[in-house]
Amino acid sequence: KLYNQVQDLKGSIRVYCRVRPFLSGQSNYMSTVDSIEDGNITISTASKHGKGCKSFSFNKVFGPLATQAEVFSDMQPLIRSVLDGYNVCIFAYGQTGSGKTYTMTGPKDLTDKNQGVNYRALGDLFLLAEQRKDTFCYNVAVQMIEIYNEQVRDLLVTDGSNKRLEIRNSSHTGLNVPDANIIPVSSTCDVIDLMYLGHRNRAVGATALNDRSSRSHSCLTVHVQGRDLTSGTILRGCMHLVDLAGSERVNKSEVTGDRLIEAKHINKSLSALGDVIASLAQKNPHVPYRNSKLTQLLQDSLGGQAKTLMFVHISPEPDALGETISTLKFAERVA
Ligand code: ADP
Ligand code: MG
Repeated sequence: KLYNQVQDLKGSIRVYCRVRPFLSGQSNYMSTVDSIEDGNITISTASKHGKGCKSFSFNKVFGPLATQAEVFSDMQPLIRSVLDGYNVCIFAYGQTGSGKTYTMTGPKDLTDKNQGVNYRALGDLFLLAEQRKDTFCYNVAVQMIEIYNEQVRDLLVTDGSNKRLEIRNSSHTGLNVPDANIIPVSSTCDVIDLMYLGHRNRAVGATALNDRSSRSHSCLTVHVQGRDLTSGTILRGCMHLVDLAGSERVNKSEVTGDRLIEAKHINKSLSALGDVIASLAQKNPHVPYRNSKLTQLLQDSLGGQAKTLMFVHISPEPDALGETISTLKFAERVA
């Protein structure tokens, strides 16, 4: 009960943890996840140095068997609040390979059943808007951008242009990247087409050895405008769906050149994000939004009346243990 009261106080920030299942060919591995019970997860830290375990608590923990539908199931109130004019941010955090893209988008062989949060959230938006059509008229439009090495790029271009974009804080229009394309959508099919375009553009510049998607943040922003049919009042809400760059620490003695520059930028922006969410959770009057492009971009949607959901992902393999513990520590700090 006390736990619920504390959660109500912090109400607008929720942290969920998701454990990826083993992939095919990994059947003989032992999971580092010892137990999952309600919002608690216990990690076995056993090694040749001895036994041990560590527990962490979150609003919810999804085990390796959780389906995409279950993971999405209690997000409907968040979606509804976007139609009511609130701003929402949903993040996927974790080391490369832990399942961030799976949660947000889905696997490569996308089906209705394994679609991720992005498709489901938009599907729900359209459904709820339809249910309210006698009282509200809604317009939905999306932008999709990438932040790589602290540079902002439009992922919804069709001419291959690669212009650097500026972030402007514009609470008036709600468009913080006014020069990025903003595309009206009215069905899940429209969204699927745009996501394909976005993913194709994101892959540009990547080589086999250099999967850029793991080292950039991608953000699908859904802008919703609703007109009350009786009073004419306009409501504006938006939802940012963010697939973050891989959180793994790189060994500075092993990487050089471009990889080191990327690593520094990722490190800086993920810690800036952690700092912002932690200071919001602690009701700290000074929130350090200016320390990264990511937090500048999301400034209007983090804190205030906005709602935040952080999904942290962990891999179950023993050789991921170090990253698993550091991911859970990051999450515990913002929870
Ligand atoms: P990330 O985006 O964090 O780098 P991915 O989402 O690409 O990780 O996941 C890595 C691999 O694991 C992919 O092949 C993905 O399909 C698979 N995977 C991730 N999470 C799950 C899950 N919950 N169930 C089944 N397969 C998953
Ligand atoms: Mg990914």
